Amino acid sequence: MLILPDWVIETPLQPPHKGWGVRVVGDQIADLAPHAVLRERYGTDEIWDAPGEVLAPGFVNAHMHLYGVLAHGIPLDKAPSGFWPFLEDFWWPLVENALDHEMIQAATDLQCARMLHSGVTSFYDCLEAPFALPGCLEAEAEVVRRRGMRASLSFEATERVSAKNGQLGLKENADFIDACRRAGGLVSGMMCFHTTFTCSEAFIRQAFAMARERDSLVHAHVSEGTYEPEHNLRHHGKRTLAYYDHLGLASPDFLASQCVQIDAAEISIMARGGTRMVHMPLSNCEVGGGIAPLPELVAAGVTVGLGTDGYVDDFFEVMRGAFLIHKATHLDPQVMPAHEVWYLATEGGARALGLEKVGRITPGWQADLQLIDAALPTPLTGHNLYDQLLLYRNTSHVRATLVAGRVLVQEGALLDTDVSALRARAHAAAEQLWARARV
Ligand SMILES: [Zn+2]
Repeated sequence: MLILPDWVIETPLQPPHKGWGVRVVGDQIADLAPHAVLRERYGTDEIWDAPGEVLAPGFVNAHMHLYGVLAHGIPLDKAPSGFWPFLEDFWWPLVENALDHEMIQAATDLQCARMLHSGVTSFYDCLEAPFALPGCLEAEAEVVRRRGMRASLSFEATERVSAKNGQLGLKENADFIDACRRAGGLVSGMMCFHTTFTCSEAFIRQAFAMARERDSLVHAHVSEGTYEPEHNLRHHGKRTLAYYDHLGLASPDFLASQCVQIDAAEISIMARGGTRMVHMPLSNCEVGGGIAPLPELVAAGVTVGLGTDGYVDDFFEVMRGAFLIHKATHLDPQVMPAHEVWYLATEGGARALGLEKVGRITPGWQADLQLIDAALPTPLTGHNLYDQLLLYRNTSHVRATLVAGRVLVQEGALLDTDVSALRARAHAAAEQLWARARV
C-alpha cells in the first residue's frame, strides 16, 4: 500500500518531507520517497491518497495507568492536601485497592480506543491493583491484543499491603514477561515496583535480579514529589537516584518515571549510568509535585519519553505541556523547541521503553503511523510544521492510525468498534469504584 499525504515526518530531528509518501508492506515501512517516484516504482499498489494531511510516526505513550480513567471525576470530600495524602487518603484506598479484573478490562478497552484516536500506537502501562492478583496482567493483555496496539504491560509490585503481596506482584511480572516471550506479538511485559518508600532494599534488588534473568527493563516511579527524596535522605542519607546508584542500579536497565524532585547530581547519575526517564508534565501539576528538570535531562543526554500518566490522555495536550511549562519556568522561549518535543513523543518514548525500530518513518522500521488533518488557519511550511501541529491540533484531528501496518482508525473512527458501548462499560465500572468513595 502507498500512503500519499502532503507531508511526511520521517524523524522530528530533520525537516519534514513535502510531497513525499510511504510504501507499507506487512508490518513495516518498505519505502519513503516523493509521490511521483513511489507511483512509478509501485504502479500496481493500492493507493491511499491523503491530501491536506501529515503522516507522522505514531505517538508512544511511555507511561500510562489505564485504570486511572475510572478515577476521573471521582467524588471526594476534599482535594488531597499534598503528594502523600494524595496516595494515602485517596489513590491507594479508593482506587487501586478497589480494582478487580472487570474494572481493569473495562478501563483498558476504552483507553486503548481513546489512545488510538489520539494517534498513540504504543504504550507502557503500570497497573497497581494489589487485590486483583494474580492474573490481572493477562486480563489486561487480552483486551490490548484484541485492540491491536503495541504495548509493554507491568504490575507495580509493592510491599505496602504485605510482604506476601509484594512477592505476588513480582511473580505476576515475571510470569507475564515469560508468557509474552513465548506467545510473540505486539504485547510484552516489564518488571516494575512502586518506589523506595513502599519497597525494601532486598525487594528492589530482587526485582532487578528477576528482570536481569529475563533481559527486561525495570520500571519505578522516582521522586514524583518532595516526599521520596526526603524519605531517602532521612533513611539512607542520600537522595533517591543517589540511593539507586549506591545500590548499583542506576543503569540502562532502569526506567525511572517522573524524576520531578531531582537535583543536578542526580541528573549526572542518570546520564552516566544510562538510566531512562519518562516525563509527565500535566500529571506533575495535578499532584502538586513540581516541574521536572526536562531541558537539563535532555541536555545531559538522558533517554527521555513522554507519558500521559492516565490523566489528560490527549497526547497533543501532553506535548503542549512539555513545550510550554519549561519555557515559563526558565523564562526562556527557546527551551524545548517543538521538534524536540515531537522527538520525545515518538522515537524518544520508544527508546525509553526499549522498543526496536519504532518511532520513525524510515524503511525497515515498524509501520506505526498516524495521519493528521493539517487544515490550519495559516499555511503549513517546512519551518513551522512541528510548531503548528503541536500547538493547534488535538485528538479530533487524527484521521487515521496504523499499528504494525494494520489500519485501526480510518476517517477519524475506530474500525469495527462501538465506542459508546466501551464507554457504557467503563461508566458501570466507575460507578462501582465510586460507590466505595461515597461510603
Ligand atoms: Zn504514574
